Amino acid sequence: MKHFARVTTLAAALLSASLITGTAHAQLAPAAQSAAAPATAQAEARKANIVIIGTGGTIAGAGASVTNTAAYQSAVVPVDKIIASVPEISKVANVKGEQIFQIGSESFNNERLLKLAKRVSELLKQPDVDGIVITHGTDTIEETAYFLNLTLKSDKPVVVVGSMRPGTALGADGALNLYDAVLVASNPASKGKGTLAVLNDEIHTGRDVTKSNTFKTETFRSPFGPLGYVVEGRTLFYRLPARPHTLQTQWDIDKIDKLPEVAVLYAYGNANPAAVDAAVKSGAKAIIYAATGNGSVGDYMVESLKAARAKGVQIVRASRTGSGVVVRNAEQPDDKYDWIVTDDQLPQKARILMALALTQTNDAKALQQVFWKY
Ligand code: GLU
Repeated sequence: MKHFARVTTLAAALLSASLITGTAHAQLAPAAQSAAAPATAQAEARKANIVIIGTGGTIAGAGASVTNTAAYQSAVVPVDKIIASVPEISKVANVKGEQIFQIGSESFNNERLLKLAKRVSELLKQPDVDGIVITHGTDTIEETAYFLNLTLKSDKPVVVVGSMRPGTALGADGALNLYDAVLVASNPASKGKGTLAVLNDEIHTGRDVTKSNTFKTETFRSPFGPLGYVVEGRTLFYRLPARPHTLQTQWDIDKIDKLPEVAVLYAYGNANPAAVDAAVKSGAKAIIYAATGNGSVGDYMVESLKAARAKGVQIVRASRTGSGVVVRNAEQPDDKYDWIVTDDQLPQKARILMALALTQTNDAKALQQVFWKY
């Protein structure tokens, strides 16, 4: 295991310095050590080997002053430096950093998503790798986590983590989030639960997690609640994902080299049907229509969507409300128009699922089944 960093002299020095000052690492003060014991006991039984892949985001961000909690530069701190700033990690796992990108997650596109997923898949096949943590911007964590959840062929834990505040800020959340993510990825109880997102003391399934607030640390939510918590170094699961993931799905990242174009169009009063025509002209194979309410489509939009379908483009009715099921044949006659409904998936997640589904079929009935299954 020579590739994995052990407790370094520097880390040990930082640790003892913090114990002496008793401020920065107050959770390691003697009175708290028994509470931290489960994590240490778990780690000492056999320390897991975890690769931490850095992609950028606020967890790799830095502000000009400690009061910059929302205005700062993201994606500037290298992953090895982030790891070194949380020396407690080396007590629970042997970790190795790997920088794959240094970007804001809004800049993820199909090409980058495929590159990341393929690298994760490669690492998961190594017998000396027990789990993966991916540091990621919070903006699109939900898309990356869902994609990995659907395409990785392994039951080893994969955890995506980010932060809402840069490490330089007062009340920075990245260090604890990263520590928690490594704990979850190291814990055998996390195996077989699909790709997870760990932030703000919570463990979410990659299928459901979504960012719900622009600046608060309490921004990630799953409509049916998180799967569990991380408290005092303990990984606590209370629920399981009900929909198929990783080993149970029909997609294998090793066999996917390109994803088709899928457009997401947003509904609003006086929406412009020309947007549908533009998506079709630019080569979209499907349009996710983030419609109002239960997937309602304005009368002035229906014709352009029907025309797109007549040209072979798949039409998926989703909802811009942020949660809930879009019911087939309710607000629109989907059977008649050969349209699809998204079930409960958010438009940006429906885009991921549709792109994957289109790599195998272009049959609207089969695509509808995919939405009801995953
Ligand atoms: N927009 C940036 C990103 O998603 C920063 C936001 C964040 O990481 O919290 O990478």
